[in-house]
Amino acid sequence: MFDTFLKAKNTIKGFVQKVHSPHPALNDSLEGDIQAFLIDEDQLHTYDDLTKVNPVTPTTVLKCLQARYSVKVFYTNAGCTLVALNPFQPFPDLYSLDVMKEYHCAPQPQEFKPHIFIVAEEAYRNVQGQLEPVNQSLVVSGESGAGKTWTSRCLMKYYATVAASSSVLKSQDTVERIERRVLDSNPIMEAFGNACTLRNNNSSRFGKYIQLQLDRCQLLVGASVQTYLLEKTRVACQLANERNFHIFYQMMKGATDEQRKEWKMPCGQHFVWLPNSEKTLEEDCFLETVAAMVHLGINAERQRQIFKILAGILQLGNLNFSSSTDESQPCNLDEQAAELLCVPAEELQMCFRVRTLKAGKQSVLKPCSQAECSMRRDCLAKAIYAQLFEWLVTFINNSICAGTSTWCNFIGVLDVYGFECFQINNLEQLCINYANEKLQQHFVAHYLRAQQEEYVSEGLEWSFVKYKDNQSCLDLLERSPVGVFSLLNEESRLNRASDPKTFRVRLEKELGDNANISWDKFSKEPHFTVAHYAGKVNYQMEGMVEKNKDPVPPELINLLQKSDSPLLHQIFTDSETENPTTKGLSKVTVVSKFKNSLESLMKILHSTTPHYTRCIKPNPDCNPMSFKKEEVIMQLEACGIVETIHISAAGFPIRALWSFFGVLTCVAVVSQLDLLEDQRKKILSQCAFSIQCCWQRYQRRRCHARQQSATLIQAGKPLMP
Ligand code: ATP
Ligand code: MG
Repeated sequence: MFDTFLKAKNTIKGFVQKVHSPHPALNDSLEGDIQAFLIDEDQLHTYDDLTKVNPVTPTTVLKCLQARYSVKVFYTNAGCTLVALNPFQPFPDLYSLDVMKEYHCAPQPQEFKPHIFIVAEEAYRNVQGQLEPVNQSLVVSGESGAGKTWTSRCLMKYYATVAASSSVLKSQDTVERIERRVLDSNPIMEAFGNACTLRNNNSSRFGKYIQLQLDRCQLLVGASVQTYLLEKTRVACQLANERNFHIFYQMMKGATDEQRKEWKMPCGQHFVWLPNSEKTLEEDCFLETVAAMVHLGINAERQRQIFKILAGILQLGNLNFSSSTDESQPCNLDEQAAELLCVPAEELQMCFRVRTLKAGKQSVLKPCSQAECSMRRDCLAKAIYAQLFEWLVTFINNSICAGTSTWCNFIGVLDVYGFECFQINNLEQLCINYANEKLQQHFVAHYLRAQQEEYVSEGLEWSFVKYKDNQSCLDLLERSPVGVFSLLNEESRLNRASDPKTFRVRLEKELGDNANISWDKFSKEPHFTVAHYAGKVNYQMEGMVEKNKDPVPPELINLLQKSDSPLLHQIFTDSETENPTTKGLSKVTVVSKFKNSLESLMKILHSTTPHYTRCIKPNPDCNPMSFKKEEVIMQLEACGIVETIHISAAGFPIRALWSFFGVLTCVAVVSQLDLLEDQRKKILSQCAFSIQCCWQRYQRRRCHARQQSATLIQAGKPLMP
């Protein structure tokens, strides 16, 4: 106790010297001094905000998070960002209706312990805005398995409960009607868009931005979903120990005898495209998916059509193209596939075996090799699945979207696939990692940079904290005409079979000087390595150009348009008129489409007030309550959490409150010190001034910090120089 007092006295003496020559950054230095002795390793779990940790280093932040995790505290603030550690174990009491009620009804929810519901509630209150309503975005990021989808579901449930247009917070089953339908969109999209991967049993294989639409009274009246880049290659090709999309396994496990018969799926039948069927996962819940379909208005007949198409896809996977003859022959399973897809079996065979070459006005038929047959079969399956997924998303939107006159504001929840770096990475990873670069840039622009500029404009003496600015990596990827995407598109437009080696030479020639890209000259496989903000990723170039072209042979499209399945006929006829990308050999490449959809997303994000949640995966094996330091520190570094804390620490409300109480403490101690009357007066008047500043800063930031950046953007003032 005496030691602590001595330390305090010394600190205060230091402070006395500082106030003799007032300094704009006084509050922060004082805070540092006070905290230097307030930090206690045994108390690390009590640090609700990482800005309170002193010094802020990756190690101290890690220790703090670990200490909290060990006492089952999973949420911690990092200034404006919420860090969410995945417990890999259910804690229902943490998300109960009572907890929702508590956060929703509290006058100052920020005063509670950090929680995802505080972020949700803050966004909900912010929608009203100070002067006018401001749309909000909740950006949930993190690597695969970190808990993004789980968190997004939690947020949606919160709004479906607290903003329910039906009886608000009355009982467990208040979530009805539109709220119920909005929530029911989740199991459907997860059944069709999620799969078991090496890193997550329920990994989202598509990105999703859901806008929850609120009316003037802030009641949830509808929602709309935008999806991004479904990993359709998974339909026809799964990595070892990974699985196809959940829906196929759900059908296999949940079908009635009658359905099995209709789907030509007898018990015990082996499907090549359904590896690891023996695994039982909680995601295999066919009845839940069907119930959600019913709630959303997908009638029994439509469901029948959907499941028949899916069964048809599975049969396609079992087709075998023999190499014994020149004209590769699929075995008779093709009849079953044709029957399920409601197309003539002979025509289906022809589509796989023969391709039509145009020579001027004449068409020439050319037999396909065995590899070409398989390629065309995979192409067909992928195209059907992707179109079906799109149709479902459109259906969901029609079912849950409110009329334009009904809603006036929205809260958007963004859940996109996390940064990926596998042993073999291709176009899918390039797109996913590009999306993560864009989000990181959004974070940097909206928060880190805007916050620092705000400090400067307020006259705070402030030395810029260095953070990883990823603009150079984005330039490397998206710059036109000399960027990876442009060059890839150019290569894809050439009317010849792509050669990865030639493409690599081209890339090296054009981008060789760029520090963000490199090559291993001795590697046999053509590849390139991109230095992303989250780490280096090696991209294999074999097949990349072909994937980017994503061609769907016109014969296949023609065939599906003739299908007797009303749904199949509709999705391929509609897509032909609405979406030129499915027209024969597509002109719009995968990266162009993806880049455009991301640009639209960024525009929406820029027009809203963002709230960031960083999900962290505490161990690679998804084990309950296990915290692996190396795993966590890599994620902390990748998302620049330390830089975020440094910047937040200088001016965020909690920090300001600390200063406020710090100065108050000084007033108390200074009055006890043996000082000349003049000296005392001077110090106390300086303290009074500091208290006033702190208080003002606290108030101002609490109300305006986030809104300010949104207003700046709305006024068209660039945040990025
Ligand atoms: P991906 O990028 O692969 O889609 P993700 O970040 O969306 O991964 P989730 O599917 O949300 O990861 O989470 C993985 C698993 O972790 C969940 O299935 C769930 O079991 C568990 N989990 C995540 N967050 C929580 C939580 N707060 N409480 C309990 N379990 C959780
Ligand atoms: Mg997910």
